[in-house]
This record gives sequence, structure tokens and C-alpha cells, in this order.
Amino acid sequence: YTQNSYKVTRGNYNLLKDRHVDFFQSLLGKERVLMDENDLERYNVDWYKQVRGKGQIVIKPKTTDEVSKILAFCNDNRLAVCPQGGNTCVSGASVPVFDEIILCTDLMNEIIHLDENSGVLVCQAGCILQNLNNYVSEKNLLLPLDLGSKGSCHIGGNVSTNAGGLRLLRYGSLHGNVLGIEAVKADGEVIDCLNTLKKDNTGYHLHHLFIGSEGTLGFVTKVAIQCPTQSKAISLAFLGLNSYEDVIKTFLQAKLELGEILSAVEVLDTPSMELVNEHLKLNSPIGNHNFYLLLETKGSNEEHDQDKLNKFLELVLNKKLVVDGTATTEPTKYNAIWSIRERLPEAFALDGYVYNYDLTLALEDYYKLVSELRDHVGDRSHRVFGFGHLGDGNLHLQVSAIDFSNEFKDYIDSFVYKRVKELNGSISAEHGVGFLKAPYLNLVKHKSSVSLMRSLKNLMDPNGILNPYKVLPY
Ligand code: FAD
Repeated sequence: YTQNSYKVTRGNYNLLKDRHVDFFQSLLGKERVLMDENDLERYNVDWYKQVRGKGQIVIKPKTTDEVSKILAFCNDNRLAVCPQGGNTCVSGASVPVFDEIILCTDLMNEIIHLDENSGVLVCQAGCILQNLNNYVSEKNLLLPLDLGSKGSCHIGGNVSTNAGGLRLLRYGSLHGNVLGIEAVKADGEVIDCLNTLKKDNTGYHLHHLFIGSEGTLGFVTKVAIQCPTQSKAISLAFLGLNSYEDVIKTFLQAKLELGEILSAVEVLDTPSMELVNEHLKLNSPIGNHNFYLLLETKGSNEEHDQDKLNKFLELVLNKKLVVDGTATTEPTKYNAIWSIRERLPEAFALDGYVYNYDLTLALEDYYKLVSELRDHVGDRSHRVFGFGHLGDGNLHLQVSAIDFSNEFKDYIDSFVYKRVKELNGSISAEHGVGFLKAPYLNLVKHKSSVSLMRSLKNLMDPNGILNPYKVLPY
């Protein structure tokens, strides 16, 4: 999917000139200003290879002051900017649409402070999620979010997309866990909302503006995040089920029986399991079933947790809700089971062009849409997959096809988004709106909300230089 087929025209921004490059190089030195075509490739193409930009320059600041000077210069010179973290975004928000300057947090990776008493971590926006998790784990803490992309994504990118992931069920969203943010506005002004207190009701909660705004309102430079204490006892159950009705019933039973120790509930269907088997040689540990449920528990007392889990398993097996299952506390087996779920996106990327949808639906509608879409696309698609964070009502609906086709994209988009609206769901559960869903925002959001979003954008970025063509309908 490239500029030739985009239904958007380039905004009235200036083209990059030598004098602009001279400024960036004089500020950062030549080694932090990339212009070689080979170096630029990975910054211009997104993770799923869904979109491709034509940015001619990547700039790598190290400090907030450098970001401030770069943005002030871009604003004065009407140069459009695409903020980028780990470039693992799946809604086309992290790469330029045309020739926007790529302003990237690769080198903003300093851990500033960890308060061991409160668990509050303060760091720069370019820290990789997994590195942060490793760092705090030495103090018996963990980051409150966990994504399959943890080895590459940056905390600034996580905040800017309001990433959800595998731990949201237990620890809640980043709107609860991020206590403070430092960000730079389009005109270079540094907004210091780097609060580190759990409770602070002094006026408007401004840092929330930057959570989930996908780089359109400001460039996040620092983050203060609350890290919960690690659990001593962790167990994982992997279950095979016959029908989606049984999946819901088992989930409800898990909430009743496991209550406060339930920490993740993920579902995948047969095509998803076949896919990881085919492309990554990962096997189901319990044979083949129509649906698979992955249930994780985390608590402080192994005996108590095991007892609860065993009772739950006995119950769902006796009720014949679950056909087969396995449970483990053993790290190798635990990691092998989790990798079936976590490496699914990797397998999709090997299956051709992927049209991906990240939806929230009521549980009774959750899998209905997968079946409806399968009927809708018929043999025009390679395969249709349904999997996701069932515990949060978050469905990842993927369609793989041999090649990209604009006409086919419109055909699926219009069907899926119309149905989601009819079912009162959301067209973006956790991946953001980005470039790919911006045209559909008016369909699902009331015009008063979109109008207030535009007013905020105009207030904070009057020249529209920050991540143009993203989030707001163009
Ligand atoms: P990028 O992709 O670089 O950027 C994302 C957006 O944030 C863009 O709009 C960009 O302009 C903006 N941005 C980045 N940094 C800044 C900054 N410092 N200031 C302002 N704006 C900025 N997402 C989930 O929510 N849950 C999942 O479970 C999940 N699993 C994934 C698994 C895989 C294998 C992959 C590839 C992706 C997955 N994602 C998931 C999507 C993705 O990893 C998240 O959206 C992640 O938060 C993006 O972080 P990033 O650093 O890669 O940001």
C-alpha cells in the first residue's frame, strides 16, 4: 500500500532543503542525521509492511532540549514531522505518508530514576519496553504492560499509542499507570507534566492528552510509570474447546473461580494455530481443537493458587466445557505456550499481505464477526483469523491475501467497520487510529468529539506539522 494508491494529497509543507539539513547536522552532528537511502528503508516501512513512506531524513536526538530545538525549527520552516519509536505500530502511524522528517527516539534511552518504595520509574521515551522490564525485575517489580513487540517497541511509542497488551486485564490501561509525561509541543515548548505521584488532582490531567494521541499533539520525551510488584506464583493453563459458546462459559467460570489471581485470558481459533504451526513450527501441546484458551494466574501463594486452578480445571472438564488442557508452572513449558500466542503476528507477516483489524466487541458478538467476514470474503482471501485479548473483549481479526489490492481493502474495511458500528463496538481497541483508520473516524465517533479533537490539534499544533494525515480524518 503506497502513495500511488493513497486517497490523500500532500499538505502544504516545505520540501527539505540543504539549509535545513545543515541546521540538523550542526545541532546533532552528521552521525545522528541519516540520509543514506539504505539506512532510511527500515524507518520508512512499517512492521507488517502495510505502508511505505518516502522520508528523506531520520533525526536522532538524545535530549529534550535537542527535540525542542528541532521542533521549533521545523515549525518555523513548515516542515512536517513523523515521530517514531520502535516502529512496531500496526495502524500505519509510525512511518511518513509522504516525505515527513522522521524524528526518532532510538537514542533517548536513559533510565532516570526508580523509586523502589513507590515502584515509580522515570525514563526517557526511547527506552525499549523489555529493557525496562529487565531493569525493574531486579527490584521485584514489573512493567504494567506486556506486548509481543516488547523487544523493539519504545515506552514513548507505547504511551503514544496507549498500548494495551497481555497484562491490561490485570493492571489496567496506561491512563491509570502512566503518572506523568514530559512532552515537546510542535512549536518547541517543553510541557513538563512529569508528575510521579499516584494521587494528584491539581487541575486538568494534561498528561492524558499525550496518551494515545499518536504523535499528533506533541513529542513525548520522558515518562513516569507505576510498576506493580512481581507475583511469586505464576501458572498457565492452555485449554482446547469445541465451540465459541464454550469459550465464553469457560471465561465466566474462570472469573468466578480464579477471581483476583486471573492475570491474562487469550483466545485463538484453529486457523491461527495452523498458521503458527505452518510458518513457525510451533505445535499445540494438546492436539487440535476448534478454539484454544490461554489462562494465566499470578498470585502470592503457590499452594493457594494451584488449589484454585485445579478446582477450576476440574469443574470445566466435568461440565464438558473444555475438551482437553494442560497447566504448568514450569518456565520452559510456560514460555513455549506463551510463544504460540505472542508470535502470531510474526506468522501473519509470513503469510502474504495482511489486512488487520483491532476491534472491541461485546463477548456475544466477538467471534460472530469472524465468521461473517469469512463468508463475506469467500475464496478471495487466503485465510481469515480470529484471536485476541478475550478478557478485554479485544478481537484481532486478520485477513491474509497473496497481494495488496486497494479494491479488496475497501471491500473488507467497509464491511468490518459498518458491522462494528452496528454492534456498538470500537474500530480500535489498542492499536490506535493511525493512517489506516483515520478515514473511518467520523463513522464511529460523534461529530462533537471529532470537532473537539480538531480544536485541540489546532491549539497545540496550529501549523499541523506533527504526524499529518494520521488520526483525524483528512
Ligand atoms: P511506533 O510504532 O514507532 O509509533 C507508534 C505511534 O506513536 C506513531 O503514531 C508514532 O508517531 C508515535 N510515537 C512514537 N514515539 C513517540 C514519541 N516519543 N512521541 C510522540 N509520538 C510518538 N499493541 C498493543 O497495544 N497490544 C499488543 O498486544 C501488541 N502486540 C504487538 C505485537 C507485535 C509482534 C507487533 C509488531 C506489534 C504489537 N502491538 C501491540 C503494536 C505496537 O507494538 C504498539 O502500538 C506499540 O505501543 C508501538 O510502540 P513503538 O515504540 O513501536 O511506536
